[in-house]
Amino acid sequence: MKDKFQREINYLRVSITDLCNFRCGYCMPQEGLVAKSRQEILTLEEIYYLVHTFVEKGINKVRLTGGEPLLRKNVLALIESLGKIEKIKDFALTSNGYLLKDYAQDLKAAGIQRVNLSLDTLNAQKFEKITHYDGFDKVWQGLEEALNVGLGVKINAVLMKGINDDEIGDLIQLTKDYPLDLRFIELMPIGQTQDFAQKHFLSCDEVLKFDGLLEVERDDPHSPAQLYRLEGAQGRVGLIRPISQHFCQACNRLRLTSDGKVKPCLHSDSSLDLMTPLRKGEDIRPLIDRATQAKPERHHLLERQTSQESMNRIGG
Ligand code: SAM
Ligand code: SF4
Repeated sequence: MKDKFQREINYLRVSITDLCNFRCGYCMPQEGLVAKSRQEILTLEEIYYLVHTFVEKGINKVRLTGGEPLLRKNVLALIESLGKIEKIKDFALTSNGYLLKDYAQDLKAAGIQRVNLSLDTLNAQKFEKITHYDGFDKVWQGLEEALNVGLGVKINAVLMKGINDDEIGDLIQLTKDYPLDLRFIELMPIGQTQDFAQKHFLSCDEVLKFDGLLEVERDDPHSPAQLYRLEGAQGRVGLIRPISQHFCQACNRLRLTSDGKVKPCLHSDSSLDLMTPLRKGEDIRPLIDRATQAKPERHHLLERQTSQESMNRIGG
């Protein structure tokens, strides 16, 4: 599918739940969350049907996310059925890692190729401050198990001034010690956590002050990450800079929320409801075309226009 700026749209991110056991300060409001009723959330069968339809329209790369996707009941059954869709060439999952130790083997068997695991610190106390959950040890075990079973692993670390900027070197060192990629992500002002982002934003330029990082070529031209490698390291260090260098010209993605809306852009409130027409038995393919054509040329975060919905709702 081509959008009106001639970008090839082949990537769908699917938030299968907006629930999460963590409460990361940059992602979810700490209080006042109202869980959606079961009726307001796509069933697993509906998610399968929608993803299948997107794939028939030209999507060949799918990532399951959330909220925390591994919290969704019967998630493995969904993954197994999606894993059988041959036209999906790249099938991945983003997780906070808390349940990964138990799931890693089955995820791999069901067809997941890569896991992006969120880990902003290597310090258990700081981990609890960031996520409001005592979970570091379990996440670390999940990371080790994912590597053990042969899943590709990328660590997502959100850069936060005054919180984890003293750990940039230790996080980079992981790419020497383990066969994994690490990606630093600039904190984005989204939803109800915008004050947090304003207070703790740090440009990825800070990472480039670290000695010995050599730029390497990206293997995927659509990847938003600029890639670097430390000499002798097993993995690479990526910088995702939505704020300091936006990458909208290479954007190839659509997002499907757990309540059945397709979002053309992460940073805009515009969305198209697929759930209602789906439940009425209507053809949703023209709506997928409409969402593709509605992709804006670029985001306007610097002009302070952003989504009012939190990341756990949209699916990061
Ligand atoms: N729960 C899973 C996890 O934490 O990996 C998946 C969902 S989470 C919303 C997906 C990604 O979004 C995580 O890597 C998280 O760090 C990132 N994220 C959430 N809020 C963000 C923000 N305000 N700025 C930058 N990244 C954010
Ligand atoms: Fe949960 Fe992931 Fe959001 Fe943290 S970033 S609160 S783990 S959805």
